Amino acid sequence: MRLFAIFGDPVAHSRSPLMHNHVFRSLDYDACYTRVHLKDGARLKETFYKLGLSGANVTVPHKEAAFEACDEIRGFAKKVGVVNTLIDEDGKLIGYNTDADGFMFAIEPFGEIKHVLIIGAGGTAKALASRFQEDGIDTTVLNRSENRLSYFKERSFQTHTWENMPEQAFDLIVNTTSAGLESDELPAPETLLRTLLQKCHFAADAIYGKVTPFLRLASELDLAYKDGSDMLLGQGVLANELFTQQNYSREAIKGPMQKTFEF
Ligand code: NDP
Repeated sequence: MRLFAIFGDPVAHSRSPLMHNHVFRSLDYDACYTRVHLKDGARLKETFYKLGLSGANVTVPHKEAAFEACDEIRGFAKKVGVVNTLIDEDGKLIGYNTDADGFMFAIEPFGEIKHVLIIGAGGTAKALASRFQEDGIDTTVLNRSENRLSYFKERSFQTHTWENMPEQAFDLIVNTTSAGLESDELPAPETLLRTLLQKCHFAADAIYGKVTPFLRLASELDLAYKDGSDMLLGQGVLANELFTQQNYSREAIKGPMQKTFEF
């Protein structure tokens, strides 16, 4: 039996074991997926091999540590320096990032998107902005404070803080901040958000499993919206495809994984 895990701190809340185990069972794939509460990201590789894992996912706050731990980085992870999926290949640790492609999968139903506003400037914002840039999507970043915007400025994104955000029109506004996760906060002042959302068609939140204050406002203004569940599903399908060594189609993996969102 092949063994997989998710590393994080905290990790108890993670839906990944449920999602992956249900796929393995449905596809009759001889594997099991567990969770590992890892405090020290520097011990990621050592723990991975001690447990005899074939692959793993990595969540907050170890995604950068996972990048450092790998012997080889493939695909999009190279560009952003953030790894969320690990695979063992003959004793070599290979790192991938499936978060950003997971998000692209999530917004497919919105159709063609040309102009995006990302709210927040953390790890998720970096991954999404770089992925949008790859697709030639015009991307603006809005953050509460100036500090974290330097990463985006250096890469030629348009950047603003709340104080200097112009009243521009976007196809999609994405909340990548943690505002609304545990609090009832909006990710930017309400007046500013209202103005921006009124000129926009779609809204998306990286936070999953709840209608955040940001999504509530979008819904009130009649925008089509989605929470982070499809992003979670998307990154999970792509990770599972790597875990099962491309033996199954994405559709075959997606069906049972999606089912777990009804549990
Ligand atoms: P980071 O900690 O790297 O970034 C947080 C960002 O949010 C910063 O730009 C910060 O601004 C901003 N921020 C935090 N609190 C507030 C607030 N109250 N008001 C306005 N801005 C705020 O976080 P991550 O990028 O790692 O994760 C962000 C969210 O995305 C989390 O909620 C996480 O759960 C979710 N996520 C969901 C995934 C999915 O599959 N659905 C995948 C990955 C993440 P400042 O610079 O001013 O401090």
